[in-house]
Amino acid sequence: MKFVHHPDAALHHPAIYFNKGQLRALPEKPERVGALAALIEARGETLIRPDDNGSAPRAAVHSPAYLAFLETAHARWIAEPGMGDVVIPNVHRMQRVPSYPTSIVGQAGWHSFDTACPIDAHTWTATCAAANAAVHATKLVATGDDRAAYALCRPPGHHATRDMAGGFCYLNHVAIAAESALPILRAQGLAGRVAILDVDVHHGNGTQDIFYERDDVFFVSVHGDPAEFYPHMAGYAQERGAGRGEGYTLNLPLPIGSDEATVLATIGRALDDIARFAPDMLFISLGFDTFINDPLAAFGVTTPGFKKMGARIAAAGLPTVLVQEGGYAVDDLAANLASFLDGFEGVTA
Ligand SMILES: [Zn+2]
Repeated sequence: MKFVHHPDAALHHPAIYFNKGQLRALPEKPERVGALAALIEARGETLIRPDDNGSAPRAAVHSPAYLAFLETAHARWIAEPGMGDVVIPNVHRMQRVPSYPTSIVGQAGWHSFDTACPIDAHTWTATCAAANAAVHATKLVATGDDRAAYALCRPPGHHATRDMAGGFCYLNHVAIAAESALPILRAQGLAGRVAILDVDVHHGNGTQDIFYERDDVFFVSVHGDPAEFYPHMAGYAQERGAGRGEGYTLNLPLPIGSDEATVLATIGRALDDIARFAPDMLFISLGFDTFINDPLAAFGVTTPGFKKMGARIAAAGLPTVLVQEGGYAVDDLAANLASFLDGFEGVTA
């Protein structure tokens, strides 16, 4: 198994975001990757530094206007008088047929679906570094260099849509990775079909939205019921895809408070459906915020439970790319990844 990470992923560090009527400290902080990187090296593994894959993989998923916005937003924002240190929108899209704004304040609202994506001077660098890690990990697996790879990404990515940031996510790294795999697989004479299994406690609304009308990317998400949990407006069981993609989106929402056995059984069910789809490759949106002591406190997965989760995912027998998403119990992140990897790699010690 290979491990891919670029240290620039730690550079993004906005102090605040706006949530439930309050300015709060951002729980998605650089210490998250520090803990995970240290764990991987302590296991004797090498953290491969990804190639710079250029703009093409990002442009295959995100709109040109959104990419230009993300790259320039912070510099444009602070150049105006009376602005705060980070980009946080104070207006959102309105009107049935809205007009694309030219101002940075307008564009910040156009390209954000919540106020949880502050942009600082390093956000673009960090999310590009994470996207490069995901694409590099994908290349290693798709070309047969290894059966599995883990991309240590930060910030997370699965909430970001084609042209909107949200939920701490800017570029959708797992979507960029999955899209980048398809031409490599087709060049080998394979069908070029991949599955994405999202086991973060939150619905991967951005990934779903990006592939909603596609039949070559099967998206399956196990997450807290959006009737009572973020992202509230997506992730319901009746969302099954559209057009050619009808039946290629599967949402398995679970009640808040679901215990470990329920979560693991549902992931098992998801993997059974993925086996029927018979993808060439499997991508995992790997969030550890299902952890019982995560500050979000939604699901009851224990540290030993992540070992079972890793073993069950490995048992699918597919070439697999693990892409790091959420998980906010910083002191427990390393132990939870270690447990997952023990299960995934079949280590019994
Ligand atoms: Zn999450």
